[in-house]
Amino acid sequence: MAKRLKSELLKNNIAVDVVAGPDSYKNLPELLEKTETDLNAIHVNLSRSETYSEITPLRYGDNKLSAFVSIMRGCNNFCSYCIVPYTRGRERSRDINSIIEEIVLLKNQGFKEITLLGQNVNSYHYNDNGEIYLFHNLVEKVAQIDSKIRVRYTTSHPKDIDDRILKTMAAYPNICDWIHLPVQSGSTTVLQRMKRDYTREWYMNRIEAIKTILPNATITTDILSGFCGETEEEHLETLSLMEWVGYDLAYMFKYSERPGTYAAKNIKDDVDEATKSRRLNEIIALQNKLSRESNKKDIGKTFEVLVEGTSKKDIEEHCGRNEQNKMIVFPKGDSVIGGYVNVKVVSASSATLRGEIV
Ligand code: SF4
Repeated sequence: MAKRLKSELLKNNIAVDVVAGPDSYKNLPELLEKTETDLNAIHVNLSRSETYSEITPLRYGDNKLSAFVSIMRGCNNFCSYCIVPYTRGRERSRDINSIIEEIVLLKNQGFKEITLLGQNVNSYHYNDNGEIYLFHNLVEKVAQIDSKIRVRYTTSHPKDIDDRILKTMAAYPNICDWIHLPVQSGSTTVLQRMKRDYTREWYMNRIEAIKTILPNATITTDILSGFCGETEEEHLETLSLMEWVGYDLAYMFKYSERPGTYAAKNIKDDVDEATKSRRLNEIIALQNKLSRESNKKDIGKTFEVLVEGTSKKDIEEHCGRNEQNKMIVFPKGDSVIGGYVNVKVVSASSATLRGEIV
């Protein structure tokens, strides 16, 4: 917004003195000084090196057990529907030493679960005085900090996820068996229009690798329905891919144009609203079925659960997630919040698993 509306903000709203973009915080003193003499205190340039590595507060989860650690900023992919590369700038990876320091600090504060965050974590690349660290090197180092601290990460890009990170996950039990791999569409032609840089076949190959190397992993995804020019056949390809993968969970949206993106400028948003809604509903109905099936398969299995809190529906119950990122509700017994407990799943709906301590 700062970049797009900079002059208008200063012109039309006398309450605004400074317009600063997301990478401009270090320029604030000079911008504030400028307001004494000059009303044009604007700094909206995006940095190629800023990673906010020393900035606190960090992002914590609601439960005081999970923390989210940024490992990179920006994105170089320029998917045709997405505004992120324009608003957050080019991809830059954070200093591995500062990431490790932050996680050690979190561990000392009692956090039990760390989620590494980035727009495209698989392309993490940091040169530490000549020593190159890639994503799987970083994740391994994080996993080695404490075997009782769970490690998760998001978001992976299908074109970049490789076997090295899958093998690292298999080697460390505290790296959780959960992969979020946004597919967006099951049709290669739609993926081309989206500028996603992979095909349906490539994506299927990556899913096969996940299922081979990490047979217990849950796989979740994002789906964008009704993208520009999407035909009925292309939509059916998305449904068939969903069935083939058997996603455990999906975040599903219908396409809406974002000003400033490649698609907004160059590709017609020509799928009518009724068709977009109908296709999205078909996708949601299928995913509900897949989630139910996925959860049903867990009945009878025992999982290690990190106890996150009291169930919202019953104060006599605790809830927490298993390694696969599924929430399980169970009678409290002698479990304590922040501890680990083994829970056997006894029943399941499409959204929740219920279990008992074993
Ligand atoms: S959708 Fe993700 S990978 Fe594509 S440009 Fe946006 S942030 Fe980058």
